[in-house]
Amino acid sequence: MLTSGPERVAEVNLDAIVHNVRTIRSLIGERTLIAVIKADAYGHGAAGIAQTVLDAGADALGLVHVREALALRAVGIDAPLMAWLHTPSTDFVRAVQEGIILGASGWDLEAIAYAAQQVGAVARVHLKIDTGLGRNGCTPADWPSFTARAKELQDAGLIAVEGIFTHLAVADEPDRKETDQQLDVFENMVSQARAAGLNPELIHAANTPGTFTAADKETGEILLGNGVRVGLGLYGLSPLAGVTSGDLNLRPAMTVSTRVNSVKEVPAGQGVSYGLNYSTPHATTLALIPVGYADGVPRVATGAPVRLYPNGKAEPRTYPVVGRIAMDQMVIDLGEPGLSAPEHGYLGARAVLFGEGENPPVEEWADAAGTINYEIVTRISPRVARVHTTDKDA
Ligand SMILES: *Cc1c(COP(=O)(O)O)cnc(C)c1O
Repeated sequence: MLTSGPERVAEVNLDAIVHNVRTIRSLIGERTLIAVIKADAYGHGAAGIAQTVLDAGADALGLVHVREALALRAVGIDAPLMAWLHTPSTDFVRAVQEGIILGASGWDLEAIAYAAQQVGAVARVHLKIDTGLGRNGCTPADWPSFTARAKELQDAGLIAVEGIFTHLAVADEPDRKETDQQLDVFENMVSQARAAGLNPELIHAANTPGTFTAADKETGEILLGNGVRVGLGLYGLSPLAGVTSGDLNLRPAMTVSTRVNSVKEVPAGQGVSYGLNYSTPHATTLALIPVGYADGVPRVATGAPVRLYPNGKAEPRTYPVVGRIAMDQMVIDLGEPGLSAPEHGYLGARAVLFGEGENPPVEEWADAAGTINYEIVTRISPRVARVHTTDKDA
């Protein structure tokens, strides 16, 4: 009954990630692929997969914080790294020293230039335009003065404007017209920047949904620019409602599992977990699954699926979580009494919350929690071991 290996594990299949990079490459041709591995690669372990995505054909890595980029440099990643969300406390000096490509939206351009002056090196910069998302990025109104200033700083030898980019608001809803409107503004602003004397090489707008829907859009060429920033697709997940990973030729890379750590017989009317919101309808067997919200399992996701792989004569099957999900554990009702006997093999059974193949898709957890697949994988907590696997391990 004792088994080896981690008790709670997010296995990340590197062969799936390689497959996904190739799928993305087939959509974008020779364009630059900025593989977005911010937020610890959406929970997949950035240090562990950075080299995999580069070897599979990514040209650069996208981060949000300079700290995230510096952490990758510290583990020996010498590929181009880009970071685009700064605060006045951001360590621009280290960023320039380490050659991090910096997105600049406004005030940060001056801070970057100042750091470059201190370091005595040229800061690599991509200017960001707010074409409609309403977050960071320079507004169209401020763009003429912003680009003029960038040109001055470039002429002074402090920065090199290597790219221009924007971020899309509704690319995951391909029928909405706002994407075309954003791209229209984008194209205009890029022309203005060139007219102002800048010569940016890399023009990028598309995220995962933009990249996967570009072929169906009239604005597809502008959408793909000559580079894309793809995050979710690397991990094999679909950003489009009603479209599965398989539909996009993607393989979900992460499988989250643990082991059943208690199996017991209970009578009808047994309350389950805090609040006693679930009561067994008849005598049955309960199995305890030792993960909860401290592991990143959303507390609100009662009813979400867990697939059990018994070690005995019982068949693998998927069950809904019953009762409240607690900090460390949750319960499933096996549906009938008498299943605690060892021959059924439930104690120690592998319990998979989501993963590839027959396992529940992460989207079922997202639906149960009222959120999106991005959030479920990203929030799996450090209490769950990340283990990188390949198809051979399956
Ligand atoms: C996170 C992020 C992306 C990646 O988005 P996906 O939908 O995961 O591909 C691209 N660009 C910016 C600016 C981002 O912050």
